[in-house]
Amino acid sequence: MKTIEEIPKLMNVLNLYGIGDLRFEKKETYKLTKDNVLVKIKYCGICSSDIERVFINGTYNFPTIPGHEMSGQIVAVNDEDEELLGKKTSIFPLMPCFKCDACQKQEFAQCATYNYFGSRCDGGYSEYLLVPKWNLVLFNDKLDYKIAALCEPGAVAIHSVNIGNIQEDENIAISGTGTIGMMIALIVKSRNANVTVIGRSDESLEFSKKLGFNILLTSELKNKTFDKVFEVVGNNESINQTIDLTDNFGTVILVGNPKDDVLLDKQIYWKILRKQLILKGIWNSSYSSKVNDWKEILNLMTEGDIPFESLISKEFSMQDYNKAFDYLRNSNEKKLKVMFKNE
Ligand SMILES: [Zn+2]
Ligand SMILES: [Zn+2]
Repeated sequence: MKTIEEIPKLMNVLNLYGIGDLRFEKKETYKLTKDNVLVKIKYCGICSSDIERVFINGTYNFPTIPGHEMSGQIVAVNDEDEELLGKKTSIFPLMPCFKCDACQKQEFAQCATYNYFGSRCDGGYSEYLLVPKWNLVLFNDKLDYKIAALCEPGAVAIHSVNIGNIQEDENIAISGTGTIGMMIALIVKSRNANVTVIGRSDESLEFSKKLGFNILLTSELKNKTFDKVFEVVGNNESINQTIDLTDNFGTVILVGNPKDDVLLDKQIYWKILRKQLILKGIWNSSYSSKVNDWKEILNLMTEGDIPFESLISKEFSMQDYNKAFDYLRNSNEKKLKVMFKNE
């Protein structure tokens, strides 16, 4: 084994013991095993799915360490992997079975029996993480850890834009003002299409306005149409609205995870038929040798032309997790990504 620093026997983690029962505690640090490296986590984003995991739905087994939006430094490797030592990395959180039909075709997001950091197994709310080499997405010194921790939502965003096949000068609307919605908006704009963000209130659109997007309140949508519309909310109102807003022969790109059963009004369903709309679903991201959304988003972040950093609202130490979740759940401030930072 080769290391760049002394690895402590115990590490700090946030461990979820049950719904609403997250604990800051010490846990034995991972031992290095074959084909893995030890990563010191520098930043881990708090996903809206983490909030649901911690406070509403729980997860597959307890206790589990949540967190899947990670960046860090490789601090310990097996002798044969010395070239990886000290490298900066982001982490693709899905560990596929490599055996099922989807995996054979490198469609890993569709794997039948995958493992996943931070939900099916321990993840990134942790000082260290043992990571298979296959899941490392390295980046260079031009990019800092903080922005790179946006890689997971960024990969979903770029995947959505690529599946939507966005072209120059197209009129694009985005329903949803959260982190992924804003990332989609930024990437679409960088492809020289016209971006309009739709939100329910002036406050929710404040950030879009600052970034120079056109904005529309949901109450102002009458007679408006767009070539392609991204749905990034996942509730009935937004799903019906996006279909209504899409022009003849246009495309609806469905990104938001549904909060409840989805019900389409009859006259909205008619519009899918009469306008001959295309509906495309988005799940996770591509991570194959041919298409790799992770490398693509890291390249965009490294180039530095898109202001991704402005999407990060606040950072907290893991020890202050109560403050972090309180801010996310209870503060009235318009916020996007909140992250845990390890010293
Ligand atoms: Zn996430
Ligand atoms: Zn598989």
